Amino acid sequence: MPTLSNQDLLQIWEYGSLIKPHEYGRLLLTMGMPELDAAELPNMTIGERDKLLLQLRGEMFGSRFDARVPCEQCGEKMEVAFDVADIMVEDDCEKKEREVELGNHTVRYRVLAIKDLDVLSSLNDGRKIEECLFSRCLLEIRRNGSVVDESDLSASEKDTIIHHIAQADPQSEVLIKLECPYCQTSSEVVFDIVSYVHTEINHYAQRLLLDVHYLSASYGWREKDILAMSAHRRQAYIDVITA
Ligand SMILES: [Zn+2]
Repeated sequence: MPTLSNQDLLQIWEYGSLIKPHEYGRLLLTMGMPELDAAELPNMTIGERDKLLLQLRGEMFGSRFDARVPCEQCGEKMEVAFDVADIMVEDDCEKKEREVELGNHTVRYRVLAIKDLDVLSSLNDGRKIEECLFSRCLLEIRRNGSVVDESDLSASEKDTIIHHIAQADPQSEVLIKLECPYCQTSSEVVFDIVSYVHTEINHYAQRLLLDVHYLSASYGWREKDILAMSAHRRQAYIDVITA
């Protein structure tokens, strides 16, 4: 698997500013793991995508994550640090179809996939999102062995299935437990690998562009050549300029 070059990271930063947030995960996989079958990407579950993104992020920036999260209670910033191994879910996420028994009904559904994100992200009403999730992911309902349609389900049975679909992919919703060191309040935050890497690449690109600016202004070097240098070598020249 190729490691992304500085050129690639700048390209991701550039394309990333032109697309919708939910498309960013797919951009990262397309650029960072070109060996993946592009035609199969839409069928990848969100958990599968996130597992690959955690792996890709490890190759780019290492396996440790650091963040600062404001406490809901007192507003103080809490330091959060964890390793990729802490948030890798041991789950058979390659199992894209699941089944749930509900009274006389056996309901088969598929796990949410990348192809669903375009539609789901265009909705902002909670109930509409649930309805959409249900209609896209439902595969088959059987009552006592015979296929029936969804009108055979009660409203509460339908809600239970929606709940199952939403919970079917634990890697797609990683929760981090926190305790505030200032007021001792416990809380849980959702860790989203896509937005984390998005922020990280934006910061990296901005530092890289500043380096290019200093070095090209001082030495007249081309962007391409500066980007091909190691961070260590760029820094050595910048230290000379700013000494
Ligand atoms: Zn607090």
